[in-house]
Amino acid sequence: MAYISIARKWRPQTLTDVVGQPLVTQAISNAIKNKTLHPVYLLTGTRGVGKTTLARIIAKSINCEALQGTNPCLKCDTCVMIQEGRYADLYEIDAASRTKVEDTREILDQVSYLPQMGKKKVYLIDEVHMLSQHSFNALLKTLEEPPEHVQFILATTEPQKIPTTIKSRCIHFNLKPIGTADIASQVQKILEAEQIKFETEATHLIAEHAKGSMRDALTLLEQCISLSPSDINTVQVQSLINTIPNELIINLLTHIHAQDAQAIEQACAQHEQNNINFESLLSNIANELYKITIAQLTKSSKHPLSNLWDPGYIQVLYRMAIIGLNDLPFSPTPKIGASMCLMRMAVFTPELETKKKALS
Ligand SMILES: [Zn+2]
Repeated sequence: MAYISIARKWRPQTLTDVVGQPLVTQAISNAIKNKTLHPVYLLTGTRGVGKTTLARIIAKSINCEALQGTNPCLKCDTCVMIQEGRYADLYEIDAASRTKVEDTREILDQVSYLPQMGKKKVYLIDEVHMLSQHSFNALLKTLEEPPEHVQFILATTEPQKIPTTIKSRCIHFNLKPIGTADIASQVQKILEAEQIKFETEATHLIAEHAKGSMRDALTLLEQCISLSPSDINTVQVQSLINTIPNELIINLLTHIHAQDAQAIEQACAQHEQNNINFESLLSNIANELYKITIAQLTKSSKHPLSNLWDPGYIQVLYRMAIIGLNDLPFSPTPKIGASMCLMRMAVFTPELETKKKALS
């Protein structure tokens, strides 16, 4: 069997499956139940919140041959054909690639013809804000008197670019970015169904990183699964999204202060095994040194390491971290580059420090 991506396999197929948009799904469900669908819907929201998925669900619900309540049956020929992207009465138009007035006119010319097989022809115009002024005019003419057998669904990330004359003909639903908790619980549900072990914290990290986009969350999940098919753990997710636990940075700085080169080398070897991005690691070290400096100089915040070095020496350490970052592309491996940089920070003793030690 051909491989199906997690995102495709778990794309919502019915209104009930849609995650994180309760108001919108309720409204559409009511309209289907009461047969009061408006001829034109405008679905807006940032990328990955499920606009086109919802549009396809509406197309299925309209034309399904055995509607279950307000959900499409997913079994009839219509449902299957829509799912497989080969239903003759669903016209998916990507306005980003079709902005010429001739193209739009050609499509709109067909509107008056009856559907080939279904109850209604469904026109899904994605990224509708990309249409030219002429195309909008042609569309507006159709929307003024849409034939009974036609359903329009317009989708866009940029509703402000749609003429108000068009907007005033639409029922507008703004899909919210999906909440972190909703995304995390969907990721957990998928992992349970796929019988993959996981750490709950790992699913929360995936959800946070996705910033409201289910699509991004599932793409990241897919990457995690390809790295480790039977077990999704926090360290692995962190390495994929390049977040490095702060605790790890604090430990390295403590080793630097203790001039413990062996501990640094061991830690770097471990981080290499965990796929930690060494560029991010050195960058985080520099960032932590900045936070220590701020804590020392402004006294407005506390830092657990603020007593280890004087402000002048932290400047030297910071400089070394930045030079280490610059040198990283020329290192034999990123791990060696980072390890050498951190060991240099540990063993290098500036004159100032030597003098201070001699005096004490
Ligand atoms: Zn069906």
